[in-house]
Amino acid sequence: MKYYPTMGLEIHAELLTKSKLFCSCSAEFGGEPNSRCCPGCSGFPGMLPSLNQKAMEYIIKAGFIMGCSISRFTKWERKHYFYPDLPGAYQISQLERPVCVGGNVAIYVPSGEKSIRINRIHLEEDAGKLIHDISPNFSLADYNRGSIPLIEIVTEPDFHSAEEVMAFVDKIRRMLQYAGVCDGKMEQGSLRCDVNISIAPEGSEKLGTRTEIKNLNSIRSIGRAIEAEINRQTDLIVSGGKVVQQTLRFNDTVGETVAMRSKENAHDYRYMPDPDIPPLILTESELERIFLEIPEMPEKRMERYKSYGISESDAEIIISDKLISDFFDESINYYNNPKAVAAFILVELMRRINLGDADINGLPFGAKEFAKLIELGYTDKISRSHMKDVLREMLKSGKNPETICEEQGFIIKEDINTVNTVIDKIISENAGVVEQYRSGEQKVFGFLMGKANNELKGIAAPPVIKAHLEKKLNGE
Ligand SMILES: [Zn+2]
Repeated sequence: MKYYPTMGLEIHAELLTKSKLFCSCSAEFGGEPNSRCCPGCSGFPGMLPSLNQKAMEYIIKAGFIMGCSISRFTKWERKHYFYPDLPGAYQISQLERPVCVGGNVAIYVPSGEKSIRINRIHLEEDAGKLIHDISPNFSLADYNRGSIPLIEIVTEPDFHSAEEVMAFVDKIRRMLQYAGVCDGKMEQGSLRCDVNISIAPEGSEKLGTRTEIKNLNSIRSIGRAIEAEINRQTDLIVSGGKVVQQTLRFNDTVGETVAMRSKENAHDYRYMPDPDIPPLILTESELERIFLEIPEMPEKRMERYKSYGISESDAEIIISDKLISDFFDESINYYNNPKAVAAFILVELMRRINLGDADINGLPFGAKEFAKLIELGYTDKISRSHMKDVLREMLKSGKNPETICEEQGFIIKEDINTVNTVIDKIISENAGVVEQYRSGEQKVFGFLMGKANNELKGIAAPPVIKAHLEKKLNGE
C-alpha cells in the first residue's frame, strides 16, 4: 500500500523592531548573555507590559502581503507552561482574536502553481535561550531573546511533499524580508519552522495521527526532516505499529527525528486573558496608512527586471537576496544600463561573494562606485577584461574605480598614432591572411582583429581599433 503525507506548518518569524514586544530592551540579535533584559522581560512580578506599536504594524504588513483579513479587534492571552527559558512561566500570545485571519500564498513547484491557505497569524513574545553544551552538570539561560516580538504563521494542512514545504518557507522568508518585517536569517533563528506531519493510505479521506517536528532552521533541514519522518511513520505502520501524537526534534547529524515530549493540546496551556494588556481596536485609517507603507514585493520586482530585458533566471538569482536586489536597484540609479549591471553582479560580484572575498552586508564601496566601474567598462574608458581586476582591488582597498584605473594604467589612451603603427605592422606580418581578406574571405577579419586587440589593450577601445583596421584593409 502507498502512503500519502499531509503537512501543515507553523512558522515563527522574529520581527525587525528595535525594542522588545512589551519593554524598551534592545531586540538586536546576540549580545553578552542577559545584557538586554529588564525586570519586565525577565519575568519579575508586578511589571506592566506596554505593547510595541511597530510590532503591530509589522504583523499587519505580514497579514496584508499574505492576503489575510486583519481583525479590527484583537486581544492577548497568557499561555502557561513551565520551562526555564520562560522566566514568567507564561508567554503572552494570542488565541481567540489573532491579528490576521485567513489568507493565501501561491507557490511554484515543478507540478505547477499551488495555493497554500493561511489559517492565522498571531503576535507573541519569544522565549529565552538555554545553553546546554557548556557543562554536563548544568544548563545556562540567556534571556536576551526573551520577549522579542514574534509572529506565528499557521497554515492549513495543504502540503503533500517536502518540496512544497521548502518552496513555501523560502517564499515566506523572502516576502517578510522584502516587506522589512523580518530579516529572514534562519541560521540566527529569526525564522524557524515547525512541521505537523501525518501519513494516510493513498485515497483515504481520513488523516493519520500527526507528529510535530519543532524548530527547523534551514530550508535544507526542513526537507531532510520531512523525508526522515515520512519514512519513520511509514516503517512504523507497515510493521504493524501505530504513530503516537508527539513532539519531535530533528537531529541533523544523524538525519533522524527524535521524540521530545508527548504533544500538548491547547487546554494544557491554561490560556487566560492577559489582564495587563487591553484589547486593541484598529481603525481603517491606521490600516490604510500601514498598507500604503508596504514596499515593492519580489513578484513585482521580477516583472520590472524582466521589463529591463534581464532573463527570468538571472532576475530570480538577484531577487533571491534582498540586499543584492537593493544593491542592483541602487546601482542602476547611477548607471542606467540594467543588463550590464545585472551581468556584472551575477558574474563577478556574486563570484567574489561565493568565494568569501566580499560580503554584501559590508562592501567597502557603495553602489555609486560600483556603477562607475561598470560605466567605465561599457563606455570603453577601460577594457572590459580589466573590470574584474578593478573590482578585486576595490574590495581589497576600498579605493574608487577611477583612482584604481589611473594607478594601474587601465585607462584607454586613444593613442591613434600607435594604433596605426601597430595595425601597419600586423598587416605586413600577415600578408597572406590580408590577401585572403581582400579577395573576399571576410571571416579572416576576426583573426586580424584579435591580434590588434591584444597588442592595443589600454591604448584604444575595440570599436576604434576595428574602424582603423577596416579602413587600412580596404585601402582607404
Ligand atoms: Zn526588557
